[in-house]
Amino acid sequence: DYQSRIRNFSIVAHIDHGKSTIADRILELTDTVSKREMHAQILDSMELERERGITIKLNSVELKYHAKDGKDYIFHLIDTPGHVDFSYEVSRSLAACEGAVLVVDAAQGVEAQTLANVYLALDNDLEIVPVINKIDLPAADPDRVKDEIEDTIGLDAQDAVLASAKSGLGIEELLERIVTDIPAPQGDFEAPLKAMIFDSVYDSYRGVVLSVRIDDGIVKPGDMIEVMSNGKKYEVTEVGVLSPKAVSRDRLVAGDVGYLTANIKTVRDTHVGDTLTLANNPTTKPTPGYRPAKPMVYSGMYPVENAKYDDLREALERLQLNDAALEFEPETSQALGFGFRCGFLGLLHMDVIQERLEREFDLELIMTAPSVDYHTTLQNGDEKTVANPADMPDPSDIREIQEPYVKAEIMVPNDYVGPVMELSQRKRGNFVTMDYLDANRVNVIYEIPLSEIVFDFFDELKSNTRGYASLDYELCGYRPSDLVKIDILLAGEVVDALSFIVHRDFAQARGRAITEKLKSVIPRQQFEVPVQASIGNKVIARSTIKAYRKDVTAKLYGGDVTRRMKLLEKQKAGKKRMKAVGKLDVPQEAFMSVLKMG
Ligand code: GDP
Ligand code: MG
Repeated sequence: DYQSRIRNFSIVAHIDHGKSTIADRILELTDTVSKREMHAQILDSMELERERGITIKLNSVELKYHAKDGKDYIFHLIDTPGHVDFSYEVSRSLAACEGAVLVVDAAQGVEAQTLANVYLALDNDLEIVPVINKIDLPAADPDRVKDEIEDTIGLDAQDAVLASAKSGLGIEELLERIVTDIPAPQGDFEAPLKAMIFDSVYDSYRGVVLSVRIDDGIVKPGDMIEVMSNGKKYEVTEVGVLSPKAVSRDRLVAGDVGYLTANIKTVRDTHVGDTLTLANNPTTKPTPGYRPAKPMVYSGMYPVENAKYDDLREALERLQLNDAALEFEPETSQALGFGFRCGFLGLLHMDVIQERLEREFDLELIMTAPSVDYHTTLQNGDEKTVANPADMPDPSDIREIQEPYVKAEIMVPNDYVGPVMELSQRKRGNFVTMDYLDANRVNVIYEIPLSEIVFDFFDELKSNTRGYASLDYELCGYRPSDLVKIDILLAGEVVDALSFIVHRDFAQARGRAITEKLKSVIPRQQFEVPVQASIGNKVIARSTIKAYRKDVTAKLYGGDVTRRMKLLEKQKAGKKRMKAVGKLDVPQEAFMSVLKMG
């Protein structure tokens, strides 16, 4: 029957181990995409993904495979991102599948996100098909990697598929293994419709386009569907599959993974993880869904032009539909005006959202320095969560501040354990344990304040280990800390959007670093501008931005015209992201200074 020939699987791996390239080879080998249309990492369709060479969004595609047993199979393949910020995309993809293809680089071996993804797959009871990729590399050592997979993951890897996505070697064997090893979905065609929304995107013509996995029943155009979490009803206008372009179908049935439109115009009415059913024949129990993503860092987002506030709100609403992990609520800043406090999964996620807003919605934004959220207990016993440093209550009103900690797993070759421990200690980490993965690799576990991790831990980790360390982390709770808020004053006025929170031991050094940094990024004005860092009324550091005298191009008189033009253009580009704060023009860079002071 139809369902026994469906295979739903995700491709998971540590970043750069070759997921998207394996997906390319599979699409090629099954003639899903013609040779003429084929290009590298074809499923990474977002402009940003192509530019950066990374997968940001899950991408699903349907393809047909004629197997050695003579039968035709339908595969629903979901390619996933590997970066720690996007593991939420991975967990949603996995919830729509029966199996996971686990890709491990034959030269790198098991890395931090390899493990993290395996745990996610096991949580979802998925069958795992291990693939050792890049066996064409001179440094490839498949036998060592097999042992490593067995030792660290406890997965039988002796018959792992050996592949080179580069040459296409092993891809056919992988397709056969998907047929034989991954179970078919077990949905009930006769039962009432039960479909899980695992992704969505806003299309200005069709409204909201939902990615769904049909667990039970059938859905077709004309059906009245109901969103189980809020009872909203819609008439289905179109169903279909991505192959990889949208191909409409007359229906989707139990076991299928596809898309659905229903003239849904309000983006708040459907959420990723929600269950859809039929209005006149509802199912009794929704799908388990999955736990909502929890933002790790928060930042204020303001339009450069105040008049664009409503545009920004609309853009955030639409983007949220395509990115369930994004959170936002209105906030006001004395310095920046009306904007939103947004929650992100990490700095890469924040960066991606900012770029998407600017490209896809044509907005110019100022973002304030990212902050984690702090739990405060006031003297009167009240509790208050602070995600914006400017909202931190007066120190005299605070009994205790707690900050978020993460459990960080750092995988590293033996030789670098020393530098990793030194770094973790310096970032206020508490040592938990250390496991030998094999004779030369170690998994070092620390509990470290999240704020230290999000700011520059990863870059320092990479440079202290020559790029050999990989990192995964998850929130492990809130711990009391001796924290202080540092205010920044420009020309004597506190600029609320520049306030930040640090451990008291680092306050002096960071205060000094940021006043120096601001001095170098804020352009000279017609008057002298003192830059001060203070804790309460006590100034702890200070620098001065000198007044400028002449137009910068003035001293190039008679000089090279193109050089002069370049300079003017540069000034113009710099201007673009300036925000008037009181009497000053402050560039976007200034608000991020807190990130870049080490
Ligand atoms: P992803 O982050 O897991 O999706 O990895 P990509 O598919 O984007 O691949 C990362 C890099 O590895 C790209 O430069 C690929 O061209 C390269 N790559 C992928 N598979 C192979 C392989 O089998 N052999 C070699 N030598 N390079 C590969
Ligand atoms: Mg990829």
